[in-house]
Amino acid sequence: MSYKLASKIKKEALKQGFILAGITTLEPPPHISTYLDWIEAGRHASMGYLADERARTRRANPKLILPEAESLLLLAAPYPDPKLDSPISTTGVEKGKGRISAYAWNDDYHITLKEKLIHLVEFIEEEIGHEIPNRWYTDTGPILEKDLAQRAGLGWIGKNTCLINPKLGSYFFLAEIFLGIKLPSDEPFKADYCGTCTRCIDACPTEAILPNRSIDANLCISYLTIENKGDIPEELRPKLGNLIFGCDICQEVCPWNMSIRDGRFSSPISSSYKIDTHPNLIEELSLSPQEFNKKFKNNPVKRAKRRGYLRNVAVALGNDGDSEAIPALERALEDIEPLVRTHAEWALQEIKLKNKKC
Ligand code: SF4
Ligand code: SF4
Repeated sequence: MSYKLASKIKKEALKQGFILAGITTLEPPPHISTYLDWIEAGRHASMGYLADERARTRRANPKLILPEAESLLLLAAPYPDPKLDSPISTTGVEKGKGRISAYAWNDDYHITLKEKLIHLVEFIEEEIGHEIPNRWYTDTGPILEKDLAQRAGLGWIGKNTCLINPKLGSYFFLAEIFLGIKLPSDEPFKADYCGTCTRCIDACPTEAILPNRSIDANLCISYLTIENKGDIPEELRPKLGNLIFGCDICQEVCPWNMSIRDGRFSSPISSSYKIDTHPNLIEELSLSPQEFNKKFKNNPVKRAKRRGYLRNVAVALGNDGDSEAIPALERALEDIEPLVRTHAEWALQEIKLKNKKC
């Protein structure tokens, strides 16, 4: 086992823009039972790919993913702080504008991190002088990456279920590389700095955070606006406010993210964004399929597809309540997508109700 090689790999990872790097074994993740209970209770909502046999067995035993693997390199790459780096306001709420989760303000991390992960594998192979079995994922593989990142010493899993590092907060993506070489493991991160804090639980608009550090996806706005392909339940629509893709609230209120705003850390990718982070809702509702595809070509928003995104925009317009949106919503009643039409109908009713009350 080479400590020198492990140290060189971590240094190279930092040079590539990762902000944390740690190594762990392929042993089963410590909180696999929480995951299995979560699936059993149906908290994964419609994300069936999380529940199938293959997904369960691989999460329970990472060795099944790459039997030749002997070490796992866990990495963290930063994304913007939605409050510190927000171009419009500290609250992210502005009349007529939607809010897109900060992780989507730049190009899709699946694309941007890929090159860095391939580079790291090549670097390691060059260092040892031969090719090695390897596999890398950026939140794409059947693996409990937060659990393993904790074991690799990167941070602890907070009550909001994010991995939190005491110096860097939680605004980062995780990635991992399975390596067919034996490297020394880092010390697991043992402390739990959540203490008696319950800010994330109290701030969650839909009460989606459960007591056992898991989230009920059926209630979570991130799920409802991204992975959910169907209707947003009517009783939850008012709680979405102006969130049109994802939700950062349980991270925004976390004191461990606030403490990084004193300048000790600033995201290297925060200077310019590839999309409008707080787009005009009326304009978004008129996006044609071609315009949507062009606008979000390399962006995570494309995951929701046009029908999901416009569904969310319609809900945000209903919550905004401005009668100026009525013509755009009436046009959306003729949209090619039934999902957009039904949510536009709801939004029109909301606006009428709100304006009657005034
Ligand atoms: S992402 Fe939003 S809705 Fe989901 S748990 Fe966090 S605060 Fe609640
Ligand atoms: S807001 Fe408080 S309880 Fe929630 S993750 Fe942060 S420190 Fe933990």
